[in-house]
Amino acid sequence: MFENSIKAFKEAYNVIPGGVDSPVRAFSSVGGTPPFIDRGEGAYLFDIDGNKYIDYVQSWGPLIFGHCDRDIENAVLDRVKKGLSFGAPTNVETELAKEIVSLFDTIDKVRFVSSGTEAVMSALRLARGFSGKDDIVKFAGCYHGHSDSLLVQAGSGAVTFGSPSSPGVPEDLTKHTLLATYNDLDSVKKCFEDSDNIACIIIEPIAGNMGLVPANEKFLEGLRELCDKNGALLIFDEVMSGFRATLTGAQGITKVKPDIVTLGKVIGGGMPVGAFGARSEIMSYLSPEGPVYQAGTLSGNPVAMSAGLASLKKLKSNPSIYVDLGAKAKRLMQGFQAAADAEEIPFITDVRGSMFGFFFSANEVKDFTDAQNSDTEAFAKFHQEMLKRGVYLACSAYETGFISTVTTDEDIENTIIAAYEAMRSLRD
Ligand SMILES: *Cc1c(COP(=O)(O)O)cnc(C)c1O
Repeated sequence: MFENSIKAFKEAYNVIPGGVDSPVRAFSSVGGTPPFIDRGEGAYLFDIDGNKYIDYVQSWGPLIFGHCDRDIENAVLDRVKKGLSFGAPTNVETELAKEIVSLFDTIDKVRFVSSGTEAVMSALRLARGFSGKDDIVKFAGCYHGHSDSLLVQAGSGAVTFGSPSSPGVPEDLTKHTLLATYNDLDSVKKCFEDSDNIACIIIEPIAGNMGLVPANEKFLEGLRELCDKNGALLIFDEVMSGFRATLTGAQGITKVKPDIVTLGKVIGGGMPVGAFGARSEIMSYLSPEGPVYQAGTLSGNPVAMSAGLASLKKLKSNPSIYVDLGAKAKRLMQGFQAAADAEEIPFITDVRGSMFGFFFSANEVKDFTDAQNSDTEAFAKFHQEMLKRGVYLACSAYETGFISTVTTDEDIENTIIAAYEAMRSLRD
């Protein structure tokens, strides 16, 4: 069933570390061989063995219109014929920037980069340059890309100056990263007691990288107050939640306003795009207007911008899609819950717009420690059983699932049927 993929993985392994260009793709935490993908079509993936899957990963978020959306495809093809890259300004960058500025009341100006990692890394530099301070507060379990100062491990829920979670990251670089506990305001207060040099708090306002764990409103309000009181900036990393939870991400749900917003994933419609934006006062610190340096040879690449623009225009002209996506996500999670309940397996779910998450856990998950206490072995088995039945779920218990506009009711029903069978095999 996976013969060609097994062979392809071995071949890749010889020339690419772990056989993959991003670690999670190797399926290490769920076991088995990752299917090598031949092509996508609408809501489906086809691997090189000819297996068909209902795709709930969607390239880890970007493909809100599914694979091979005609509008995005045509925008890209038109643009490709005019040349791939110039390293000079193009109108399509301004057009996409205008769309974003008109959408987010927290953004007057925006700069484009080529990945979420780059967006966050640049936003941090800007926050430090603007505030004239060095320390940052990040939350255990929040992922903000792989730049050095953000690769800091969770310290068993305790607030502590961070130590690097990867060899190759000098402690000198992470000593400015203070770790706090998600949804725990006291842990953040402690950071401000420990340091009077805090430039910013960075948070996924709807965490999607420890499973789906939304921040509660009181907590976000508290962060805003702490930032205001201490002259620090609040950064919402909406690389995943942007255009996913609602059209304006978490900002369509919470009343709390961030100072800087980072975007990625959906913003590129499947092409490599990231962005960070803020009010003019902050953005004017950025080179060449201001002193904070930031650059990129392929930044604002016209082909990538065209994909993003086509995708964003489509989202803006169909605001009701989020109601539909949310309803489908809820139906899917209710189905998974019922399947787990039928076998008396402890299970909880959550939904934010087109994002869905579940844990094999009897208790509420509100931070990274709770997430780590869920049954990841049960998840791994569930994942394998679903894959066998043609359902492509994220290959880790700490990821979020996504519904696309082309995911049909029938796909949802078939996925729920598979979930009943998978839960049954978990009990056996
Ligand atoms: C995916 C992600 C990133 C990193 O984006 P890349 O494009 O993978 O570099 C940063 N922050 C959040 C919240 C993400 O989900």
